[in-house]
Amino acid sequence: MGLPNIDASKLTKTLTAKPKELVDQKKLAFGKNFTDHMLCIKYTEDGGWEAPEIKPYGPLEIDPAAFALNYSVQTFEGMKAYRSADGTINLFRPEKNMQRLATSSQRIMLPEFDQEQFLQCIKELVRVDERFVPNEYGYSLYIRPNFIGTEDNLNLQYSREALLYVYLSPVGPYFPRTVKLHANTKEVRAWPGGVGNFKLGGNYAPALRPTMEVVREGYDQILWLLGDDHYVTEVGTMNFFIFWTNSEGEKELVTAPLDGIILPGVTRDSLLELARKWGEFKVSERKVTMPEVLKALEEDRMLEAFGAGTACVVCSVSEVLYNSKTYQIPVDPSNPNAVFGPLTMRLRKELLDIQYAKTPSPWSVPI
Ligand SMILES: *Cc1c(COP(=O)(O)O)cnc(C)c1O
Repeated sequence: MGLPNIDASKLTKTLTAKPKELVDQKKLAFGKNFTDHMLCIKYTEDGGWEAPEIKPYGPLEIDPAAFALNYSVQTFEGMKAYRSADGTINLFRPEKNMQRLATSSQRIMLPEFDQEQFLQCIKELVRVDERFVPNEYGYSLYIRPNFIGTEDNLNLQYSREALLYVYLSPVGPYFPRTVKLHANTKEVRAWPGGVGNFKLGGNYAPALRPTMEVVREGYDQILWLLGDDHYVTEVGTMNFFIFWTNSEGEKELVTAPLDGIILPGVTRDSLLELARKWGEFKVSERKVTMPEVLKALEEDRMLEAFGAGTACVVCSVSEVLYNSKTYQIPVDPSNPNAVFGPLTMRLRKELLDIQYAKTPSPWSVPI
């Protein structure tokens, strides 16, 4: 009651004495290079939110008994800053990421924070490290907010201390090729009543072993299924879309519904809105099962399938291994070397044009 919330006007800055050399844009790998500074905002239950700090990027000091390190009291976000042709920098629907972080943090008893003020601080961090924002179409500055419980207490109640911090990583295009999926019929990523719809660190560690198993067999990602009817949920860490002629004979773009199993992607939401605005075919959020996918493949009704997320935007799926059988998914029948299907390509271009401010849109938020 009455304790201070995040206040961007109180932000302090300590700039690095050792600015990093910029990495050649062409050599940027995802999440391997970080900028000069980070944003840290501390919380205590007794004192509320402290003044936000921008300081040199570096290790955090954290107690070995912290909640985050013992019980995965950790949630994160992934968003990007894009430099447009005229040099200005924009975020893409950042308020969606703020909302999602708030929702995820509530689930693990992390404190409430002022989303608008936090966003102001993130914008200031991007301004401070502005020189790291790449200037080529397809390249961007990945923004990673992390929110962790820092109280040193092994009692499973809730963390009375927390740290919200943000760091930045310049990135290149993610998946410049089609992906091969291995449908997993053994492990599940999320389940009814679980936490698959929150961006919690605890959701990702258990996916590592199954993912590495399929990567070793030459696949790119897992197609996550759920239940005896093999409900098709997500691919790796992307939402999954199918474009097909459905069993009713209608052209339809379909993706899993927000039923608590899948992560509510900002990319997913944006693509649905774009496709609905076109009004050229049916756009649905509903459950699709693996047997329905196989039937569509058998009857030549499958047109395209793709994953969607901030990191890659969209990537076309060319193959799925399911119950030891390989199924080819069409990409672009008119071009055997195509990396994107025609609809996937069109959605990608519309979204990128908004992100790089070629197309004016309220989704583009200037820094
Ligand atoms: C982050 C994430 C997505 C994609 O969300 P975007 O907001 O579009 O980046 C999809 N699935 C999972 C499991 C994720 O963690």
